Amino acid sequence: MRCGKCCLSNLSFYVKDADIERWKLQNREDILHIIENCQAVWAGDHFVSARDGTFLHGCPFLEWDGGIYNCSIYGTRPRVCRDYRPGSSKICSQYYKGL
Ligand code: SF4
Repeated sequence: MRCGKCCLSNLSFYVKDADIERWKLQNREDILHIIENCQAVWAGDHFVSARDGTFLHGCPFLEWDGGIYNCSIYGTRPRVCRDYRPGSSKICSQYYKGL
């Protein structure tokens, strides 16, 4: 539905070594630069930047596109995003549908 909720969640965006390796192979310095700059670490129940302590609000690759949200790296998004199933989490507006 492109509501952006899962991408705005503190919990949804993290990358694994396989994502990093893929982006290196794809020469996606743009992505690697942002990941390196964010340096997201857990601080209790939310993410902050280890660089300067800035509170991180959702995924840095999420874009607002005139009424809908858009993933700016959709074709090479992290594994965790590919595996996410709408409705599988309580943060999703589709969670209770079909029950
Ligand atoms: S990489 Fe794309 S799909 Fe994954 S959380 Fe960010 S905006 Fe959402």
